[in-house]
Amino acid sequence: MTAWRHLVGRSGVFACQDSGNKLLGIIGLPMDWTTSYVPGTRFAPEKIRSAACNIELYSFLTGRELESYGYIDLGDVSLPNGDVVESLRRIKIVVKGFTEDYPDIIPVFLGGEHLVTYPIVKALRDEIDLVVVFDAHGDLRDDYLGVKYSHATVNRRIVEELNKRVLIIGGRAFSREEIDFIKNSNEVDVIPPPLHSDWSKVLNMIRRATKNRSVYISIDMDAIDPGYAPGVSNPEPLGLTPSELLNILREIVYSSGSIRGFDIVEVNPLRDVNNVTSILAGKIVIEFYGLILDRFY
Ligand code: MN
Ligand code: MN
Repeated sequence: MTAWRHLVGRSGVFACQDSGNKLLGIIGLPMDWTTSYVPGTRFAPEKIRSAACNIELYSFLTGRELESYGYIDLGDVSLPNGDVVESLRRIKIVVKGFTEDYPDIIPVFLGGEHLVTYPIVKALRDEIDLVVVFDAHGDLRDDYLGVKYSHATVNRRIVEELNKRVLIIGGRAFSREEIDFIKNSNEVDVIPPPLHSDWSKVLNMIRRATKNRSVYISIDMDAIDPGYAPGVSNPEPLGLTPSELLNILREIVYSSGSIRGFDIVEVNPLRDVNNVTSILAGKIVIEFYGLILDRFY
């Protein structure tokens, strides 16, 4: 048994939904210590929680009402400002402790910057076959500004240190170093935002990659087009529409053997316009809940 509860602090309850059958966990990870362009993702967990309070508890994708389902919301992990090593250590302890105490509950993590996915996958590495990452970027640099653990290197660390396959969906912005790495590695696949003509091919590729696997899903909100999700730290044009993302997410949930965890990262309330990015992030979690119910219960 790992002692971990002293590391999380009670805060609001996701979607203000504290009753009903609780099948999803929520843990906030308010960290933006390595953010290179515009900091502010540390404010996202609370913003996404409260945004979710103000949209209907209904899954449009599955036609399910969600009013009779709640969340085990543990609040936010208390992270020491600026201390990357200690923050990653605490996140890993909480993830391990949570999955030991709630083995049947799928944890949903609210970032924070994308580096938080590294300690999560590290904690869950024995149960995960594949990490599916929605992202405009590769996050595959070997280092960024001389730093090995950064939002811009997270997928490289997951591949090289944790020996996990990574499937990047919505990828459309890579450095030369990243292109070479993708070419030379057998562990990374990229599916760019689909043109209309490739749509069925995209869904086929996703089915093939995820079929019967134990999957962890990470959604960097900049995978979505900045027209729909302007409140991110590194906006990149020509992204997925929210409907495309949800279509792909449905394919992943229905084709995988199991879903071991889910995160939504890089929402930056300080860059947002009328909260639309936080609201969309909240909606994605609610639709994910509908998909999980439909597939596994
Ligand atoms: Mn990212
Ligand atoms: Mn990104």
